[in-house]
Amino acid sequence: MSYRLRLAHLYPDQMNIYGDRGNILTLTQRCAWRGIELELVPVGVGAAIDWPSIDMAFFGGGQDSGQALIADDFVRHQGPQLREAIEDNLVLLSICGGYQLLGHYFLTHTGERLPGVGAIDVHTVGGSVRLIGNIVVEAGDWPGAAGTLAPGTRLVGFENHSGRTYLGAGVRPMGRVLAGHGNNGEDGTEGAVYRNTFGCYMHGSLLPKNPQFADYLIGLALQRRYGAGATLAPLDDGLELVAQRTMVDRLVHG
Ligand code: GLN
Repeated sequence: MSYRLRLAHLYPDQMNIYGDRGNILTLTQRCAWRGIELELVPVGVGAAIDWPSIDMAFFGGGQDSGQALIADDFVRHQGPQLREAIEDNLVLLSICGGYQLLGHYFLTHTGERLPGVGAIDVHTVGGSVRLIGNIVVEAGDWPGAAGTLAPGTRLVGFENHSGRTYLGAGVRPMGRVLAGHGNNGEDGTEGAVYRNTFGCYMHGSLLPKNPQFADYLIGLALQRRYGAGATLAPLDDGLELVAQRTMVDRLVHG
């Protein structure tokens, strides 16, 4: 059986910092290596998107100014249908600025209040000191997951944000911070999970450095579209895993 998936890339022109596009390249290549066709659907300002036909979505990070350019369009134009798709288990990965706009709001450090779509129960408040550096996160036990990522897997990335994100009762953290700052630098959590929607502060790019998580997301999308029998052939991730382990060793074990 040959599989096809559609990947919506939210606001690629405005929300594309710290190499987040590498996540799209990784998803595309890891699908191609298995003969899975991944069609890219860019979502620009004013775009009309048929969300039920979309299997995965990616929303990268952006400067506060980039977020301000698209926040209203995102909330008014995509918000209602996107929220429905998320409730219908759309597989969505959001990083930093994208993560912030999926929540209720982002109050920037200059006092501007950017609306979010309220699809996940988080809100963000800008601080005067940026949270910057490498980060290691121990993945939690995520709900509703049919993929292959073992709880306790260590994910590595790079963070750079002024926003502090606080989780409400409707989400759980993606994981526990072993090194770095995470959601807010205070409570030891990083990221948020709601159904198949993930938000976090890990740039890097995230997915090339964490191939287990890339496959986990592809696996979720395949099973949502084609049923529980749709599985991923393994790839040789030897090099990627050495790089990942090296970063964990340096940052966590000193
Ligand atoms: N502008 C947001 C902040 O600084 C997001 C930055 C980012 O996406 N790296 O908190």
